[in-house]
Amino acid sequence: MNELYQQLIIDHGRHPRNHCACDQATHTHEGYNPLCGDKVKIYVEVEEDCIRQLTFEGTGCAISMASASMMTDALKDKSVDEAKKVFYAFRDVVTGEQQASENLGKLGVLAGVSAYPMRVKCATLAWHTFMSAIENSNETVTTE
Ligand code: ZN
Repeated sequence: MNELYQQLIIDHGRHPRNHCACDQATHTHEGYNPLCGDKVKIYVEVEEDCIRQLTFEGTGCAISMASASMMTDALKDKSVDEAKKVFYAFRDVVTGEQQASENLGKLGVLAGVSAYPMRVKCATLAWHTFMSAIENSNETVTTE
């Protein structure tokens, strides 16, 4: 488990998926984690309640970038409601409220951060920013 966790973080950190701006985005939002210096901007294209495109731009530590990258892979092509459910499940796992279940798939490897409160903010930054994007909030997300 630990080895898989490290491999996935390194892989997504080095080769982030969907790491680009999205011109057709219907929702965008920026997030910032001042404790670590992680910054992300999330681009979502929602069409008929389905997430057609999900991309991000950002800089930060390996965990924040890997988590953003894995999130874009996991939530793309889901309905908005399904994506929200994955968000709540993921949040509960990385904060240690719940054990990782199989339906989280690869995201479950990020459960390892639950032991490190500082890292939880890195792992959830992109996710909170995504939620604000689809809810059209105007406030910049900060993990503080
Ligand atoms: Zn970080």
